[in-house]
Amino acid sequence: MITERVPVVEKIFGANDRLAADNHARLEAAGVFSLNFMASPGAGKTSLIEQTVRHLSGQLRLAVVDGDIATSLDADRAAAAGAVAVQINTGGDCHLDAAMLQSALDELDLSVIDLLIVENVGNLVCPANFSLGTHKSVLVASVPEGDDKPYKYPGAYRGVQALVINKIDLLPYVNFDMEYFQRGASALNPGLATIPVSCRTGDGLDAWLEWVVEQVSTNGRGHEIRRI
Ligand code: MG
Ligand code: ZN
Repeated sequence: MITERVPVVEKIFGANDRLAADNHARLEAAGVFSLNFMASPGAGKTSLIEQTVRHLSGQLRLAVVDGDIATSLDADRAAAAGAVAVQINTGGDCHLDAAMLQSALDELDLSVIDLLIVENVGNLVCPANFSLGTHKSVLVASVPEGDDKPYKYPGAYRGVQALVINKIDLLPYVNFDMEYFQRGASALNPGLATIPVSCRTGDGLDAWLEWVVEQVSTNGRGHEIRRI
């Protein structure tokens, strides 16, 4: 019966991809640039979002959609940092899908947003299999997780456009071979933008914020405005 499983899976991904395309068209039409943040639990997605919102809310209008299995703790932190925040409780699901993002978009006034950050559920496996319709994906890795993660979770490293390596302030205290880690990541995703940071000390954040602003101005509303 294994032959019957494949078409079912394809049907699910097909439906998700159609909704993702709808989401993408909607974001494009509104001039919203969007990023999908993925990571394992505890890597620091929410901390990176907080820092991003704090530093960029003076120049960009930001919204955050937070996927969480059960709580609104992360959305509350994004809101406290100054973003419009929408919470998606997945009710136990270990990833966001395009339908969930669609209902979150219904709750936002997209006409007043420049940058939408989607915080996916903390999980290195299935979020990478469900496109949401966002423009680019960011993987947040962290030093205490270990330097073997690109080798163990290749799917998570393949489909992203930026890799943030968080908690570099902990490098002296853990066994993390940066060269080995980066070699694994670039074998899977050559030329991947890789930005080491510490959300705690602020190290490296300038390079990260620069990458984000560059993305928004190249792909988002800013580009349209400048062309007129
Ligand atoms: Mg979080
Ligand atoms: Zn899942």
